[in-house]
Amino acid sequence: MTDWNTRTKLVHSGARRSQYGEVAEAIYLTQGFVYPSAEAAEARFIELGDDEFIYARYGNPTVAAFEDRIAALEGAEAAFATASGMAAVNGALFSMLKAGDHVVSSKALFGSCLHIVENLLPRFGVEVTFVDGTDLDQWRAAVRDDTTLVFFETMSNPVLEVIDVAAVAEIAHAKGALVVADNVFATPVFMRAFDLGVDVVIYSATKHIDGQGRCLGGVVLGTEDYIRGTLEPYLKHTGGALSPFNAWVMLNGLTTLDLRVRAQAATAAKVADALAEHDAVAQVLYPGRTDHPQHEVSARQMETGGTMLAVQLAGKEEAFRFLNAAKVGVISNNLGDARTILTHPSTTTHQRLTEDQRLALGITPGTVRISIGLEDADDLISDLSQALSAV
Ligand SMILES: *Cc1c(COP(=O)(O)O)cnc(C)c1O
Repeated sequence: MTDWNTRTKLVHSGARRSQYGEVAEAIYLTQGFVYPSAEAAEARFIELGDDEFIYARYGNPTVAAFEDRIAALEGAEAAFATASGMAAVNGALFSMLKAGDHVVSSKALFGSCLHIVENLLPRFGVEVTFVDGTDLDQWRAAVRDDTTLVFFETMSNPVLEVIDVAAVAEIAHAKGALVVADNVFATPVFMRAFDLGVDVVIYSATKHIDGQGRCLGGVVLGTEDYIRGTLEPYLKHTGGALSPFNAWVMLNGLTTLDLRVRAQAATAAKVADALAEHDAVAQVLYPGRTDHPQHEVSARQMETGGTMLAVQLAGKEEAFRFLNAAKVGVISNNLGDARTILTHPSTTTHQRLTEDQRLALGITPGTVRISIGLEDADDLISDLSQALSAV
C-alpha cells in the first residue's frame, strides 16, 4: 500500500468493509460499541487492539478510515481527526505546551490561530515571540535553546506569504524545537511538509479536503509516538472529535482531492496572469508568478502556485464594486471550495483587527482574496475581467 501513488491511495487507503462487502464506505454513525462479553470489555479498556473502538470521542471506524487515508497521502505514521481545523490547532498546541514554555510564531496567521497564540497561550504562562515569517534572520534571533516549538502557516491567509519551511525547520531543530505547521493553503497535494522537516502537520479539512463547502473538520498528523502519546490523550478527554458523518464526507472528499486542486491551481495561474494585465489591479499576489516576493521559495517547496490568489485594488469602494459585479464567483469566506469565492478580508475575516494590525499583515482596504474553484477558466477570466471594469 505504501508503494501506491497519490491518486491510488486517495481512492483506496483506509477503506474498511463490513461483512456485507459494501463498495462505498459505510458510515458508522454510532457513539459506542457492544462487547461480546464482560471480559472482552475489560480487555479492550486495558489495551485497544487494531480496529477496536470504545467510544466515538476516542475513535470510530469511519473517522479511522479518514485518518488512515490522509496519513497515507501525507506519508505520516499516524493522524487524529478533529471537529474543525481550529480543534486541530488547539489540540496540537495545547497538548504539547505547559506554563514556562517558549513558542516562536509567524505573525501572519488565520484570525483564530492568532487568537490562540497571541491571547490564549500567554494566559496559561506560555511565552510567545512573534516574527515576520518570511525573514529567516528573525527566526534565528527568536528561537532559543529553551524554545519548545515553532508555529506557522506554510502559506499565509490572506496575502499568501510563503514560509521557507526547510530553512525554518533547520533553525528550529538546531535548538531542539519542534516544528508545527498549518498547511491548509498549500494543501497536502502540493506540499510534502514532512519531507521539508515539519514534525506536526495540521489541516482544516473544511477547506480543500471537503472541497464543496459542506462540513467542518480537521486533522493533525505526526509520528505514532506524538499522536498516540501526546495528542490523543488531550483530544479524547477534551472532546474535539470529528463526527462520523463529517468523516465520511471528508473521506470521499479525499478521493477527488488531487484532481480538484490540480484543476484549481491550473485555473488560478491563468486567472492570476489575466488579472495582472488589468488597469484596476495594482498588484496580483500569486506564489506561482515570478513577481511574487517569495516565488523562488514557493517553486522550491510547492509543486504549483496553489489554488489561492489575492489582488490589491485602489480601496474599499473599488473592492466592493468588484465583488458586487462578479457573477461566477460568490462572496463568502470559505476557501478551497468548488465554487470560486471572493472575500474582502478587511471588512470580514480580518475586521476585528486594527487598521495598523491589518497593514502589518499586508491587508489594505483594497485587498480581495480569491479562492479559485472548479469553474471553466475562460468563464472565470471573462467574468472577473468584466467585474474589474466595473471598478
Ligand atoms: C480555515 C482555517 C483554519 C480553521 O479551520 P476551521 O475548519 O474553520 O476550524 C485554520 N487555519 C487556516 C489557515 C485556515 O484557513
